Amino acid sequence: MPVHLIRGGYANTYLIEDGGSFVAVDVGTSWAAKKIYKYFSDRSIDASSLKMVTATHFHIDHVAGISRLVRLFPKISVCFFTMVGDYLNEKEKICLFSPVIWLTGLLPVVMALDNHIINTGAALLSDKTAIPLPLLRKFLPSHYKAECILDEGQKIPPLPHWAIIKTPGHTPDSVCFYSRDEKTLISGDTILNMRGSGELNNFCANPNAIKESFKKLLTLKIRNIYPGHGRPLLNLDGLENVTQ
Ligand SMILES: [Zn+2]
Ligand SMILES: [Zn+2]
Repeated sequence: MPVHLIRGGYANTYLIEDGGSFVAVDVGTSWAAKKIYKYFSDRSIDASSLKMVTATHFHIDHVAGISRLVRLFPKISVCFFTMVGDYLNEKEKICLFSPVIWLTGLLPVVMALDNHIINTGAALLSDKTAIPLPLLRKFLPSHYKAECILDEGQKIPPLPHWAIIKTPGHTPDSVCFYSRDEKTLISGDTILNMRGSGELNNFCANPNAIKESFKKLLTLKIRNIYPGHGRPLLNLDGLENVTQ
């Protein structure tokens, strides 16, 4: 049940493989979508084994490549965490961050990443869905139909060995994907790794909520963290070295 890393923009894209099926998590740019297509064709993996695309939260750098992915894999289903449905039907607006949080939380993350020119180009050529800017706060329509059905405690159909863990804090709709068998966590923007040993994200809509989410993650057995930004952390002995 390995996790495959695809680098296609500011956020990491992951392919979770479980029993011959694949699920793409956080396809943040159309470039990431094309790289997934190439990943499958280079390895002669049948495109129909990519069953679903989802995201750890509804932020532009994690979802803006989904439209392209759906064009490349027309049979794929787009499934989000239930709360994303509130954004899509406009019951909730995508949460905004104060200018201070942009400066202290987001800027260090962006500065620590390499390939700025390529990443910015990839972002410009992708959907603008889920961009958290005041003038564009209203949801910008995308070109696919999404089902918002994934929830904690419920099965993820193509991934029998994986579960969703609700981890609000960075945004209210943040979730992680967790495999107990593999002791592996796809942590989205809840835990990042910009400094080498992993850290709880500073760029938070709700700093208290992310601390509570971290306490919840501490109860899990975790050896591998695949963060939304930064390099994967492998063969850990729990989360004790992750900075809070
Ligand atoms: Zn985010
Ligand atoms: Zn992100």
